[in-house]
Amino acid sequence: MMLIMAINAGSSSLKWQIYDMPSEKRIAKGMIDRLGKQDAIFKADYGDGEKFERQEPITSKEKAATLILTRLKSLHIVQRLEDIKGVGHRVVSGGEVFDKSTVITSDVLLQIKNLSELAPLHNNIEAYYVSVFAQLLPHSQQVAVFDTSFFSSLKPVNYLYPIDTKYYDQYGVRKYGAHGTSHRYVTQRTAEILQQPLEKTNLITLHLGNGASVSAIAHGKAIDTSMGFTPLAGLMMGTRSGDVDPSIIPYIMEKDHLQNISEMISILNKKSGLLGVSGVSNDKRDIDDAADNGDKRAQLAQEMFVNRIVKYVGSYLALLDELPDALVFTAGVGENDQPVRQAVCDQLQHLGVKIDAAKNQAKGQELLISTPDSAIKVFVVPTNEELMIARDTYDLAQK
Ligand code: ADP
Repeated sequence: MMLIMAINAGSSSLKWQIYDMPSEKRIAKGMIDRLGKQDAIFKADYGDGEKFERQEPITSKEKAATLILTRLKSLHIVQRLEDIKGVGHRVVSGGEVFDKSTVITSDVLLQIKNLSELAPLHNNIEAYYVSVFAQLLPHSQQVAVFDTSFFSSLKPVNYLYPIDTKYYDQYGVRKYGAHGTSHRYVTQRTAEILQQPLEKTNLITLHLGNGASVSAIAHGKAIDTSMGFTPLAGLMMGTRSGDVDPSIIPYIMEKDHLQNISEMISILNKKSGLLGVSGVSNDKRDIDDAADNGDKRAQLAQEMFVNRIVKYVGSYLALLDELPDALVFTAGVGENDQPVRQAVCDQLQHLGVKIDAAKNQAKGQELLISTPDSAIKVFVVPTNEELMIARDTYDLAQK
């Protein structure tokens, strides 16, 4: 038995999954929420639909990791911790250093920490968990799977900003992208569904969750993506503005007497997007409820959300050398929100895109939703970043 653990660590949560490889059978998944607090919540789903949930103080990251391993044994999810041969860690920024997943040596760990300037809320936390799990599971290989590496195939024409190139040369200011593991998973999966080689697969992938991004894929590789230097760019998101004219920043700061640029960036990151426009919520379902009840701002938020997606898809249709094989919707909104998919595809009707309204009722399930005569196929492909992490970790741990 070869078990692989996939770890997705945030500042106040720790998500984990365990896969039996190479069968790719998920044997358990869980998370710790409100980590660091007295009323943290430990959840696990395992076995034949069994569930465990407890509210308890989990006051440190080290305690969190130890508790997961203790529970793996006490809930009989894992017989021997030595069977966990690899731990794959999602790492937000690999900068320009890592163009693929990699086994974590002390050098690699140092580089991950050094890249924390590009992902201040993430890389250091992720690096910390690498050390903790390496200590607690000394028999396991630690592997880093970077959110950015899928975008290492971007060319300068697409990743550079039209500013003095010294900012790139001296400070690394460029587009790095985000959600790469998700875009990579749905790209590979769609090639499989289409039964064609990845190298011949051209797609536009739409990861629409709380964070959201669109990528253009040519010959199985990303050529452009809507996220930027940070995950604030591109589409309108749950709480993030996406693209705005940077000149509004000093203008709003002056009008609102904001002293600190970080306050302004926080407004763009946390109080904008669907939340900012609707004034209701960052959650698309709440917006839909409010819009159904006649809330004008919620209706505007719905329209703007779709509008930004359409504009990015349009620009990527133009950027690709030929019509893509498919448009692929994924993540919370992409997998579940029929009206968003319908509205995006309706706007592309003049390009021959047609979806089948009955098939578009699909929720969270892998499905072709376009009609047979659609110029471009349209798929819903539920994302699975953890499986991608487990696969990479298994491959590297094997070697
Ligand atoms: P995260 O980026 O946090 O991983 P998810 O991919 O889980 O986000 O997506 C969260 C978003 O998906 C939320 O806006 C939520 O409202 C939306 N969502 C989830 N389920 C549905 C649904 N059934 N219908 C519409 N939107 C949904």
